[in-house]
Amino acid sequence: MSKILVIDDEEEIRIALKRVLTREGYEVVLSASVLDAIEKVDSNKDFSLVISDIMMKGKNGIDFIQYVSESNKNLPVILITGNPNLATAESAVRFKAFEYISKPVDRFQILSVVKRAIDSKTKIDVDAEKLHQSEIMEKVLRSQYLDLNRQNAAILNATSDAVITIDFNKTIVFANFAAFEMFHYPSPADLIGQTVQVLFTENKMDKYIDRIQEVMGKNQKKQAYQQADVTLKRSDETTFVADVAICTYILDGESYFTGVIRDVTQKKMMVEQLIDSERRAFLSTVAASIGHEINNSLTAIQGFVEMATKETAEASLKDRALQVTLNQTQKLQTLTSNLLQLGKSSKTRSETIESIDVNKVVSHVLEVFKETARLKYCQINWEPGEKLSIKINPDQFSLLLSNILLNAADATKNTGTISIQAFKERGSVHLSITDDGYGMTEEVISKIYEPYFTTKELGRGTGLGMFVVKQIIDSFGIKLTISSEPEKGSVFTFIFSN
Ligand code: ADP
Ligand code: MG
Repeated sequence: MSKILVIDDEEEIRIALKRVLTREGYEVVLSASVLDAIEKVDSNKDFSLVISDIMMKGKNGIDFIQYVSESNKNLPVILITGNPNLATAESAVRFKAFEYISKPVDRFQILSVVKRAIDSKTKIDVDAEKLHQSEIMEKVLRSQYLDLNRQNAAILNATSDAVITIDFNKTIVFANFAAFEMFHYPSPADLIGQTVQVLFTENKMDKYIDRIQEVMGKNQKKQAYQQADVTLKRSDETTFVADVAICTYILDGESYFTGVIRDVTQKKMMVEQLIDSERRAFLSTVAASIGHEINNSLTAIQGFVEMATKETAEASLKDRALQVTLNQTQKLQTLTSNLLQLGKSSKTRSETIESIDVNKVVSHVLEVFKETARLKYCQINWEPGEKLSIKINPDQFSLLLSNILLNAADATKNTGTISIQAFKERGSVHLSITDDGYGMTEEVISKIYEPYFTTKELGRGTGLGMFVVKQIIDSFGIKLTISSEPEKGSVFTFIFSN
């Protein structure tokens, strides 16, 4: 209920106004003098409106409105006068009286002005409250913003990745702590303000920037770009290899690039070491089974030669001995040349990429492995077809294929069926290796590329085979799809895009 203060030194008028207003549901407080009224509005904050006479003994209505106006209260005042004149009207305007009404006051007129005055005050109060709330909100946001900024700064300085921002002129405008360390700069001042060119060797940067712009330009929505194996330069001219993720954004109409740079030298070294140790493990497995083959051949040769060299030996036995020796040495020869082929890989690896015929390499790898203990009792279905060229390092391809073949053989407990198919589909060469072995669960498939992940018993699996396969397919952009079902078998399909 709105509370109205009525000021008038004539009692009948006070009473009359009170009657009219209370009938409309307003609460009315009466005051016979301005001094009393001032005291009332000072001590009581919840008046919605004041209706005051102008002409009164002592302080008058103008004094009152002046007081209200100067004390900045949101309190509408309706002035009533029995003697309208320019001077009081002018004061009423100056001190922002809500209305200036002349007597006699008609009931409808006063009620309508009262209603408007109260509505207007309510609206001003609501607006003021809204403003107040929005000021609070702004304060909260500002402090959250500062918190975020602080958090951001803490993250940027805690991460071991270098974070560098450049503007459209390719000038470095921000670099975090890790950036100075990674690029061997003594302080922020030495890096900020320089062109980003200083971080690249020769003219490599333009190549990358072009590429980034090309990728991002094509797809407006794409605001992030990643590039592996970027060669970067430190302040002392030494270089290192990094993975770089770049995002672009526009701030105040200017575009910026922020790059997150991860030095992958260590990681690369570890991967190389893993590949090497797998190669060694692999070669020792091969060596054991091939040693066995050699031993068999030598035993046969030795037995026949010993018999043939006895004085009593018949000519036919001598012929037989020569034949066996020839066969066995031929077998040994292919075996050793194949081994040499596989063994030389470690030095030439990843440097030479050749166009090779998938059929030839598959046949070649099968020749090496099919007589080894792990594959000897497997049924291998393979029929080389038309020439299918792929670009790859042949040694790495052999390593990849033999890892898949040996896994397939193991999955069939070395006695199952392995089918190999090479074909062309939608312009790409496919190579699939299917086995009818014990297959894999989803969980095994999801971990298959993890180094050291093996389900095989101790001494049989190293858990590095598929990890090496992954390294190889990644470095040549080969796609590998695996489909498998427990107890049914697995299919590994390589898709060569070149
Ligand atoms: P390893 O052969 O030394 O165990 P790999 O990295 O070559 O290591 O393979 C990891 C695991 O993946 C194997 O232990 C096996 O569980 C699973 N795996 C790989 N190939 C096959 C396959 N053809 N059939 C069933 N399981 C397979
Ligand atoms: Mg394996």
